[in-house]
Amino acid sequence: MIVMKFGGAALKDSQSIKNVAKIVIQNIEHDPIIVLSAVGGVTDELLDMGMQASHGAVDVKAFIELHEKICGELDVDFSIFRPLLKELTGVLSDIKSLGVLRLVEKDALLSFGERFSVRIFSKYLENMGIKSRAYDSWEIGIITTPSHSNTKILHKTYKDIRKFFETNHMPFWEIPVITGFIAKNSKGEITTLGRGGSDLTASIVGTALKCEEIQIWKDVDGILSAEPSIVPNAKVLRRISYREAHELAFFGAKILHPQSMIPSKKGNIPIRVKNFLFPDGDGTIISDKTDETEEGLKSLTCRKDITLVNIESPEMIGEYGYLARIFAIFKDLKISVDLIATSEASISLTLDNTVNVERLIKRLSSFSEVKVRKKMAIVSLIGTRYYSPTILSKIFYVFHKEGVNVEMISQGASKINIAFVIDEIYADKVIKALHKYLFEKEKSLEVMR
Ligand code: ASP
Ligand code: MG
Repeated sequence: MIVMKFGGAALKDSQSIKNVAKIVIQNIEHDPIIVLSAVGGVTDELLDMGMQASHGAVDVKAFIELHEKICGELDVDFSIFRPLLKELTGVLSDIKSLGVLRLVEKDALLSFGERFSVRIFSKYLENMGIKSRAYDSWEIGIITTPSHSNTKILHKTYKDIRKFFETNHMPFWEIPVITGFIAKNSKGEITTLGRGGSDLTASIVGTALKCEEIQIWKDVDGILSAEPSIVPNAKVLRRISYREAHELAFFGAKILHPQSMIPSKKGNIPIRVKNFLFPDGDGTIISDKTDETEEGLKSLTCRKDITLVNIESPEMIGEYGYLARIFAIFKDLKISVDLIATSEASISLTLDNTVNVERLIKRLSSFSEVKVRKKMAIVSLIGTRYYSPTILSKIFYVFHKEGVNVEMISQGASKINIAFVIDEIYADKVIKALHKYLFEKEKSLEVMR
């Protein structure tokens, strides 16, 4: 049994949906369970529709046209969607009368993307002569905490999914096609797992059913040594560990939802990232093993639009409780900190650009000097043994050669990543140069001469 997850890019029109169906049919002997995102762009479109409804305009025309066209081209009867369309209009009318887009209605609204895509896909499989059935994820047992948007699943989900399939539906005589990203909470309200959350759904389902493999199908050959739009000759990694993949996703590689490694790591189920445009490739396997390449380096990533905060309090030298005092403020303001570097009485840390720094500065300024720099980037190198003198000398050579100041350095305790905070405008050129000197053989020797 395998889970095959396809995102919006794989489902952008009827042609791409046909391609996905072909891949699924080729894998039929592996007993695939399908997890889908919404049709490409639809989640953003629904968000827009929600905003407009909150300003008084309910308009479902473009949404209907897009799905109706796809159904027409795949020979799927669009009239099956009448009840869902009625529900969609109802949600939008509620938003209109409330005059705001609250998280409860927003999650309900976003659910329609996946609820449409799974039904279309499942019907199309049937047209191809393959028995199939569409499921909204709550039907198979995915249940979350009460909160909305970016919510967490309850642990009982794993048991419930297993029970559901074991009692009713295994072995599969109909291919299950399950909505990614969406779920329900114990109050019966629709919730969502955060943008890109279908990867997490796939990981949950694959782990619950102890599948052989969870496949995430993307438009790239696997996980690469750098973002291919910046480094065109980036290499595909054959095998990386869950930890490395998690760091990669967290530090900006647009490859997997950062949380999606957590269930599969616990259940020790490998995730394979594959390319739906070249399905024959091996892709990248994420598991508890990693490839010990010569230098142990895996990938360079970059996260832009980061805010760097420097906090200094000379009067705290030799005192205790300084860090506690600072972090109590972050806790109070519910601000999550990403990277940290400290010395006796100063701290540098990075935050997401969405944080309201004004309030933070006000609180910290009462006992510290605070400097904030926006539009920074975190460039990180992921892999084992990056801390060898050879690698470090190459890294610093690049900063020297490119004339770029490093504003902060942070090394993860797990020793699988080192991160450099620099001005965002230099990020791409630094990544290009680092890739050249660290990952491309001829260049990599130049520094050492
Ligand atoms: N459709 C959702 C999104 O666009 C979930 C996903 O694609 O995984 O974020
Ligand atoms: Mg997606």
